[in-house]
Amino acid sequence: MIQANGYAAQNETSPLAPFSFERRDPGPQDVVVDIDFCGICHSDIHQVRGEWGNSKYPMVPGHEIVGKVAAVGSEVKRFKVGDPAAVGVIVDTCRECENCKAGEEQYCEKGTVETYNSKEYNGTPTFGGYSNVIVTDQRYVHTISPKLDPAAVAPLLCAGITTYSPLKHWKVGPGQKVGVVGLGGLGHLGLKFAHSFGAKVVLFTTSMSKAEDAKRMGADDVVNSKDEQAMAALKNSFDFILDTVSAPHDMNTYLGLLKRDGVVCQVGAPDKPAPVAAFSLIPNRRSLAGSAIGGMPQTQEMLDYCAEHGIVSEIELVGVDKLAEAYDRVVKSDVKYRFVIDMKTLKQ
Ligand SMILES: [Zn+2]
Ligand SMILES: [Zn+2]
Repeated sequence: MIQANGYAAQNETSPLAPFSFERRDPGPQDVVVDIDFCGICHSDIHQVRGEWGNSKYPMVPGHEIVGKVAAVGSEVKRFKVGDPAAVGVIVDTCRECENCKAGEEQYCEKGTVETYNSKEYNGTPTFGGYSNVIVTDQRYVHTISPKLDPAAVAPLLCAGITTYSPLKHWKVGPGQKVGVVGLGGLGHLGLKFAHSFGAKVVLFTTSMSKAEDAKRMGADDVVNSKDEQAMAALKNSFDFILDTVSAPHDMNTYLGLLKRDGVVCQVGAPDKPAPVAAFSLIPNRRSLAGSAIGGMPQTQEMLDYCAEHGIVSEIELVGVDKLAEAYDRVVKSDVKYRFVIDMKTLKQ
């Protein structure tokens, strides 16, 4: 076994604290990645604090993992020792169902094995990226370009693919008007992608103090979603709206902005059901949809696209000694725009 160190929560109220555990020795298909950086996703906080009712402790969170290959199994050809590499939200799936065969592993019919707070199919608990090393089957490991700042790549593994995948699925591109709701970890990457794909992009926010940042990242317009007059003026005009907000909010407002065959896609996860009026959907044949991360081929495609187009996350780098503070600030939406943990600080 490989000795690993990380930070874990022991129960839903305990602070994250140093934790030693074991990773499996690499099998023929495995890649051992020494972790340099791990992003802090809002879902880490929900799970650490037991807010989704599915928490397993001890829990080492983290599914936005970037590092370097430390060893490879005998059948691994895509990676060699020293290569930059990344691991995201999923570390295994059944590989045989229709969705796995289609490269849409995130919808595996057997259920995905998630990077943490989950169990391998053999029952072993999974531990995430707030740690120094991870061992993962090569199918779920991605190559990353040395051209990009590795710390700023980390959030692409969850926030990035979560926004890239629906924009691709609904074929966002030139000539379209696209809305992005919320400028957080997800929203700022959704904005960069939608702009990069050639759409006209409007950012909806309740904090107009972010307007300048939004324009720098590619927004053509920034609209205060509380400004009823401004919202009314935009009715029936959008092809696609990516809703990244996880706080409770009225989806009918955004559905009303869609033109014929328009789609609102929810990627934020409010914890309570929200009412949707039939007459938000019926006019203009509108759709309300959802989307979860992306499959392994598309995650690699996104990382390659980001290298080609110089797209990375805007980050604040923190040490492991600042995790509690970072969590509090994420909950208050006080981060520009994703925290990333520098794992070198684990050794100090
Ligand atoms: Zn995440
Ligand atoms: Zn499957």
